[in-house]
Amino acid sequence: MSPELERVSGLIREVADFPQPGVLFRDLSPLLADAEGFRVVVEEMAAHGADADVVVGIEARGFLLGAALALRLGLGVVGVRKPGKLPAVAHRIDYALEYGTATLELPEAALRPGSRALVVDDVLATGGTVEAACALVEHAEAEVSAVSVVMELAALNGRGRLAGRKVRSLLTV
Ligand code: AMP
Repeated sequence: MSPELERVSGLIREVADFPQPGVLFRDLSPLLADAEGFRVVVEEMAAHGADADVVVGIEARGFLLGAALALRLGLGVVGVRKPGKLPAVAHRIDYALEYGTATLELPEAALRPGSRALVVDDVLATGGTVEAACALVEHAEAEVSAVSVVMELAALNGRGRLAGRKVRSLLTV
């Protein structure tokens, strides 16, 4: 791993038992607050996003990364949102989390059919969230060019769930 990515890794805080007992939460807040760390992450993600023509960021940390990445790539950004936030919803998907269920919504009139979306989030865990975001993109008749995350939790095998998709993670633990 490059010294730059080693430093990025060191800026991610581990919080035990959040949001529930047994989960080791990877908190990217210190990394995003560090100008050099944030720059490295966005540059690394941008290096693999050249064939996209729009960025799709997943609420909420995917918004921070996705917006910066879109600007860096000269693209627009679409936010895939948790329920109840959007005035007009193009499509909604309910999906299973490790515990319970969740919902993601795609805003109306945001993603053009035929566009190639780079789907962005902070952490890939079981892959359910990214899978749902990809399904929303495809429901809008757009294409997922790649999935990009900062950190992948290999033990949860999100990559396996996203088999057939191009998945890029900067750090794997
Ligand atoms: P997933 O299981 O891949 O659907 O993850 C669900 C969502 O929760 C993703 O948006 C991740 O960013 C977040 N998430 C899941 N597990 C963790 C974790 N251990 N640390 C930080 N974020 C997590």
